[in-house]
Amino acid sequence: MTHELYCKDAGAVSCGGHITGANEDEFKSNLVAHLEAKHAVNKPNDTLVDYLMGVAETGSAGEKKLKF
Ligand SMILES: [Zn+2]
Repeated sequence: MTHELYCKDAGAVSCGGHITGANEDEFKSNLVAHLEAKHAVNKPNDTLVDYLMGVAETGSAGEKKLKF
């Protein structure tokens, strides 16, 4: 399953970022690299990563099912 995330779908509307990955591990590493490069987030915690994974799955922050 391909994962992809547009930053604007996660609420970062000023970022044109589009992160993809062929699988979950690849997506996560691309996501972390993007967060560090564009959002000044170093070592994002699991809550943030899980949230963004959920947005990537549903394509929307609003439809995310809470995991915590
Ligand atoms: Zn971004």
